[in-house]
Amino acid sequence: MTDRERLVADVFGIAGEYTPLPGEIDENAKITGSDGRTYLLRISPPETDGATLRFRQSVLDTVVGIDVATPTVIPTVDGATWATLDDGRTAHLYSWVDGIAYSDAGRPPELAHEIGAATGAIVNAIAGLRAGPQTLGFLWDLSDAGRIIGERVDSIENPRRRRLIDLALDRYDAIDLGALPRQVVHNDLNDENILVRDGALSGVIDFGDAIETVRVAELAIACTYMMLDQDDPVGVATDVISGYRSVAPLTDAEAGVLLDLVLARLATSVTVSASRGGANPHHTISEDLAWDLLERLVAGDLDAIAEDLAAAGGCVGTPGARRTDLLDRRSMLGPSLSLSYAEPITIVGGSGQFLFDDRGRRYLDCVNNVCHVGHGNPAVAAAGANQSLVLNTNTRYLHPEVLRYAERILGTLPDHLDRMFLVNSGSEANELAIRLVRTATGRTDMVCLDHGYHGNTSTLIDVSPYKFNAPGGAGKRDWVHVLPSPDPYRVPEFDGPDGGSRYRTLADQVLADTEPAGLIVEALPGCGGQIIPPQGVSNAAYDAVRARGGLVIADEVQTGFGRTGTFWAFERYGLEPDVVTMGKPAGNGHPLAVVATTHAIAEAFDNGMEYFNTFGGNPVSAAIGNAVLDEIERLDVVGHGTNVGDRLLFSLIRLADRHHAVGDVRGAGLYLGVELVEERRSKHPATTLARAVVEYAKAQGVLLSIDGPLANVIKIKPPMVFDSANADRLVSVIDEALAASTS
Ligand code: PMP
Repeated sequence: MTDRERLVADVFGIAGEYTPLPGEIDENAKITGSDGRTYLLRISPPETDGATLRFRQSVLDTVVGIDVATPTVIPTVDGATWATLDDGRTAHLYSWVDGIAYSDAGRPPELAHEIGAATGAIVNAIAGLRAGPQTLGFLWDLSDAGRIIGERVDSIENPRRRRLIDLALDRYDAIDLGALPRQVVHNDLNDENILVRDGALSGVIDFGDAIETVRVAELAIACTYMMLDQDDPVGVATDVISGYRSVAPLTDAEAGVLLDLVLARLATSVTVSASRGGANPHHTISEDLAWDLLERLVAGDLDAIAEDLAAAGGCVGTPGARRTDLLDRRSMLGPSLSLSYAEPITIVGGSGQFLFDDRGRRYLDCVNNVCHVGHGNPAVAAAGANQSLVLNTNTRYLHPEVLRYAERILGTLPDHLDRMFLVNSGSEANELAIRLVRTATGRTDMVCLDHGYHGNTSTLIDVSPYKFNAPGGAGKRDWVHVLPSPDPYRVPEFDGPDGGSRYRTLADQVLADTEPAGLIVEALPGCGGQIIPPQGVSNAAYDAVRARGGLVIADEVQTGFGRTGTFWAFERYGLEPDVVTMGKPAGNGHPLAVVATTHAIAEAFDNGMEYFNTFGGNPVSAAIGNAVLDEIERLDVVGHGTNVGDRLLFSLIRLADRHHAVGDVRGAGLYLGVELVEERRSKHPATTLARAVVEYAKAQGVLLSIDGPLANVIKIKPPMVFDSANADRLVSVIDEALAASTS
């Protein structure tokens, strides 16, 4: 028997085994009694006075009748509610409350309503209690948060974070505290004090922070901790609030300040921790989550969120303010700019593979291939900011960043590609590429693949059947020659050992009697439907054009920088293009694009006319481009993308066993497509189903989109930091979506 076990036996008359538990101020332990029951032993420091201990006792005694389990006091053998030890500390024994912490139970959002109701029940039960003694230096009173945060805000050195706290403080200062009813509350219904068992709320523990304060603090604190690490924090909070309101009173004044008190509680938590030097490792996870929630909420539309929470609390706000963004957009932006989703979303933040909307809702991004090394990548952002502070100008001067970038990009390419130009977009890169091949060959005609897309300029629309053959398109120009899409699902003859020669025969027919300047082609056509051409077919297209003296432009705008399992997609087929164009991921969202070519073509283009590009190749873009390359190396984008992509491809292929609508699954690295059909034999496109899947996934917090000439291919091309857990979640959401939409 240990000393502590002897103490429990002597003082409380209970024989049991002592297991220590974590505690910030108190010494806590679990006592497994030989009577088969379990207890919590708490030894509090000597400075905790008797009046405070009696107050805590009265809270526990009063709350005991509610539906949810709470700790009850086990008296000492002398019938006292605690014992004072020789060193002045006090020993308390309570009944053990079963369950695991909400935070350890995976934060189940479906318990939010129940937790809100329990919060209300606690408030009701202890409403009549008299205030306990003041605890000097107490940091967790929301009715004093302005002072508590204000005294500590200087510990936040990061200016971005400091701005978040200042904002929380400003909103807090505007609260009319006098209008809020006061009473005794638990005051710490956090994600460790709310216990869960068998998928239901099982208990509430730790009444040690109970104080008299504004009554709504109880609900605001419960909301705060339930909102941490949720995909839809505001949705969870509204459930907590409606649960609370189903049992307890909530005035309009209280409902109206809920968001501001949530922000104040988050700000208290992070500033108290920062002022203590952020020492307690036990708290760093919840601190990271607190910052994450603060950032998401503040990036959003705070007034609209406040209104959502107030409305859940029964306070009628000013409905109608919501749709202004959409109306403003319609009245100011060109109507041909498209918007995703039946109900468009306002995206205001991003981090890694996640995007956040104006209500703090988190979406798993499976489609934005531009932010290759993650949304809001700090290293890339810092590179751009730092270079902007020093210099940004055009390429008429020597600059080391630009040359360093050129050297690194050329280093990733085959040796014969040894000259490059920096431009601002994929379209601009392809536009310049076409000028290069036309100038070098002295010819005009261009060859492209059916359903291809290469950019938004006049010339590029003319070589993009995806556009010129679609609504609003002017059809094919005489100088354009279209080879078939190398799609082995729709044209099975292209598959297999004779596929290349079959394709070559068709290409020769199309190109008979032509003298093309060049072919513009993606090795893995994107807008064409995330096509993975069979081996030999792309080579046949290259050969057919080259046999007629034409040059080849490899459009790597979508596929480049390691997305598809090799650094450049053309490497997959051992192709040797004459020009390579790059865009989208090059600047991780900053407008940076590249044209690489041969010495001979670059020389031919130097025909006396200067090529000038105001923004192309500026030092800021080059610094950003270099930072992106650093991140690609650091994150091992090619290796990681291949591993996660293979796992995703395999799981998606298995979906086809269960869902007949899955006609084809294809992909390379993190560049995948799921083609949906109404019936496998006819391959009739399931366009409506594809739209339904994308909408369903969005409702689950997963962003996807559709592509392909028949608008029936779910395309998947996430930021390359997408991981295996994200892949598994995506597959299960597509699985559910198909089940829901086809039943
Ligand atoms: N080429 C391909 C293959 C593309 O997918 C795109 C854009 N979707 C472009 C070129 C044009 O790039 P940007 O939109 O940057 O002009």
